[in-house]
Amino acid sequence: MTQVSNIVHLDDMSQSLLKLLEQCDPEVGRILSDEAGRQESTLELIASENHVSGAVMHAMGSWMTNKYAEGYPGKRYYGGCEFHDSIEDLARDRAKELFGCGYANVQPHSGANANVAAFMAMCKPGDRILSLPIKSGGHLSHGLKPNFSGTFYDIVEYDLDPETERLDYDAIRAIARETKPRMIICGYSAYPRTIDFEAFRSIADEVDAVLMADIAHIAGLVASGVHPSPFPHAHVVTTTTHKTLRGPRGGLVLTDDEEVAKLIDRKVFPGSQGGPLMHVIAAKAIAFGEAMQPSFVEYSKQVVANAVALAQGLVERGYRLCTGGTENHLMLVDLRPRDAELTGADAERWLESAGIITNKNGIPNDPRPPMVTSGLRLGTSALTSRGFDESAMGHVAELLDQVMGSQGDPKICSDVREQVRGMCSRFPLPH
Ligand SMILES: *Cc1c(COP(=O)(O)O)cnc(C)c1O
Repeated sequence: MTQVSNIVHLDDMSQSLLKLLEQCDPEVGRILSDEAGRQESTLELIASENHVSGAVMHAMGSWMTNKYAEGYPGKRYYGGCEFHDSIEDLARDRAKELFGCGYANVQPHSGANANVAAFMAMCKPGDRILSLPIKSGGHLSHGLKPNFSGTFYDIVEYDLDPETERLDYDAIRAIARETKPRMIICGYSAYPRTIDFEAFRSIADEVDAVLMADIAHIAGLVASGVHPSPFPHAHVVTTTTHKTLRGPRGGLVLTDDEEVAKLIDRKVFPGSQGGPLMHVIAAKAIAFGEAMQPSFVEYSKQVVANAVALAQGLVERGYRLCTGGTENHLMLVDLRPRDAELTGADAERWLESAGIITNKNGIPNDPRPPMVTSGLRLGTSALTSRGFDESAMGHVAELLDQVMGSQGDPKICSDVREQVRGMCSRFPLPH
């Protein structure tokens, strides 16, 4: 028997899977069971992660994985696609309704792949693109040298205001005027504040550029109206489906422009992908359906309220938050005011030993290298999915500080580990 026994809350289908694996592949079964146990018994604070529903999870392990469906509904390169057409149409229709736009491509395998298609649709190789660099909270697919984006395009950068650590729209406008980019990208991986898409559009219009909004992190907040929508401002919108949106791991491209939509479809397939992951598209349809429920609006509001509560708990204990706080699901914690010697790398490692999962993250103008850093990026999407409220987040802030304040003292870490297990059993994973 695999270690199902120490995982308290496992739904029937998950139990069946582990039983099946126990017979046909115990080696894999053990690893999956260990991972289920890890997720059940640790606090997930990585801002880009979440816990999906049982329906989303199990749809990915369904019949839809067996089929090639290259092409689009009604225009496939393989026979037998009747129900694949139905599921992709449903996913597209729900995505359009959820985000209030005219066109959706649900095939990108990931957020980075959605960006490949958007770049290829809107720009020619060598075209100039204006974006925020990764060191300031951008994403590697927005122009990092070794990435496709930095390899095939002429990347110019804007940066955050060094004082406020926020977007400075006047400065971005000045750089856009000076550099005349073909495309401007907004939307980030580590920016805790609201994005003014309208301001970005006015900058783009002024220099006759295309505006791309990559809402990978905030898509769930956008879908529920907790963050302003990039529509009608952005020409093209890309996102992941697995962060605040709480769907399967995957990508999505949205637009309101019919011409852009045609280009995007061509650049996803055959431009940059082969057969779509239809099992994931089925799970996307389910996740979009879940995100249309009133309960998802409540969930998203709670995600933000929890972020504010966690932020406050950390500030009270001597940490500094970049930009002074948060308005979304994430925060960037500057560790130095609490302890000048404390690094993101040490904090991440110590916290993991206490059952708290985080990631080190550079802060704006971080003097330490990317593998060390002076910051932690924390997000509340995953804990909110298991029912954490503001008061539980206050407790999490306390636990974070016990570990970091003790410099990872093994006795304290194992004590916190037990408290974490207690919290996890009070807030089981969603099914
Ligand atoms: C996470 C993220 C992506 C990439 O998503 P993957 O699915 O990991 O490829 C793209 N853009 C931004 C802003 C992100 O935060």
